[in-house]
Amino acid sequence: MSEHGCELRFRALFYGLLRIRRKGRKTMARVLIIGCGGVATVGIVKCTQHPEVFEEICIASRTLSKCDALKERLQPTTKTKITTCKIDAGNLEEVVALMKSYKPDMLIHMGMPYHNLVLMEACLRCKVHYLDTAAYEPEDVNEPEFRKYYDNRCKEKGFYAYFDYPFQWAYRKKFEEAGIVGVLGCGFDPGVTQAYVAYAKKHEFDTIDTLDILDCNGGDHGYKFATNFNPEINLREVSSPGAYWEDHKWHRVEPMSIHRTYDFDGVGVKDMYLLHHEEIESLGLNYPEIKRIRFFMTFGQSYLDHMRCLEDVGMLSPKAINYNGVEIVPIQFLKALLPDPATLGPRTHGRTNIGCIFTGKKDGKEKKYYIYNVSDHQEAYKETGAQAISYTTGVPAMCGAMMVLTGKWNTPGVHNVEEFNPDPFIDALNKYGLPTRESYDPVLVD
Ligand code: NDP
Repeated sequence: MSEHGCELRFRALFYGLLRIRRKGRKTMARVLIIGCGGVATVGIVKCTQHPEVFEEICIASRTLSKCDALKERLQPTTKTKITTCKIDAGNLEEVVALMKSYKPDMLIHMGMPYHNLVLMEACLRCKVHYLDTAAYEPEDVNEPEFRKYYDNRCKEKGFYAYFDYPFQWAYRKKFEEAGIVGVLGCGFDPGVTQAYVAYAKKHEFDTIDTLDILDCNGGDHGYKFATNFNPEINLREVSSPGAYWEDHKWHRVEPMSIHRTYDFDGVGVKDMYLLHHEEIESLGLNYPEIKRIRFFMTFGQSYLDHMRCLEDVGMLSPKAINYNGVEIVPIQFLKALLPDPATLGPRTHGRTNIGCIFTGKKDGKEKKYYIYNVSDHQEAYKETGAQAISYTTGVPAMCGAMMVLTGKWNTPGVHNVEEFNPDPFIDALNKYGLPTRESYDPVLVD
């Protein structure tokens, strides 16, 4: 063999080995995204800002025209290869078939929480990582088997929301054995709020005694009544009895019966009400040292008046009624009448402020600490075309997926956000749109 031929073979071997090494460290991934509403729009925009990780994405949702329109808008702006697909996320066989043909490394679910279990099952069958933004709840809460479970759980545990985590936690061992990672509830709340708890425990406290999660939306969209994320999920959550966790048990309260006011940085003074919220369930288990965990959300008077009135006349009912021979589920009909949250972007002004206030001890001394983010609705809209509620959910979903795909969150199994290392995630949030603010002398909620 000539010297030249020998050199070519050597080069081929060298570059071949280099490719194998690169492949071993590869972070470029193909990702299947479910949903194309407000939250998904933000998550998708943010993925396309990072083609070095999200090399290819497929936007799969119920209404193909929405997926195609978003692709058309984004493709000229990004190196990420975007494809689209119509899918029924509640149909297991359909989802599995799509996954077998698209072969994603990960599925990011930003559609409806009704489909979490189907999508987790599909991920398990195809050995694909999974992430969602809300805890599972069934679409039909009157289905007899669920109703039996729900009535028992209300009696046993004492909280009344339709969502809870055990259905998804049941996949823990199966995901572990399959070597895939499942990240549950990776929006802002749930999601970032739990990373804040893990961060506070790691860097600020030896023990945490109390935690108040405060979710303030100071935005105004100009409508007398509209919800800023999916109306069905939002109204189910808000009209249910509230609950908080104290001394290792749930305490039930009537809806909107615990009211406080708080002066939020970047927003001002707002009325807020105690609600049950899904992250309390996992935080209570993962941080048994915390004596009391509460969740407060702000609401304006107009929202509350409309909601009470709609509830009084039966419009929030998830139970189907027969109207002139047609089955109508009142809350679904109401959703069809209300503004689509994905269209609120251009008309919403003001800011959100979401975060966690802690009391506890460090080096034997009592300590207070507040960690939070302030986001501006119009800035979110200018960047992504969606308002800040979708923004504060879609950005963490992208950052969480990035953690999994770059191997920073790599423990197989099904996990809530507080179970992962919070540092790289909070770094990513700081860089990619949700910077953290801190206070060491916050006003506490009484
Ligand atoms: P939207 O209603 O705007 O979007 C839902 C999307 O899911 C739509 O694109 C809808 O399609 C699609 N979809 C509905 N049913 C199906 C189906 N059977 N098959 C395929 N796609 C379907 O909701 P949001 O974007 O406001 O919320 C998305 C999720 O984020 C919800 O689960 C919500 O609870 C969660 N969330 C989490 C927050 C957090 O901080 N953790 C905060 C806010 C929201 P179509 O266009 O046809 O309607």
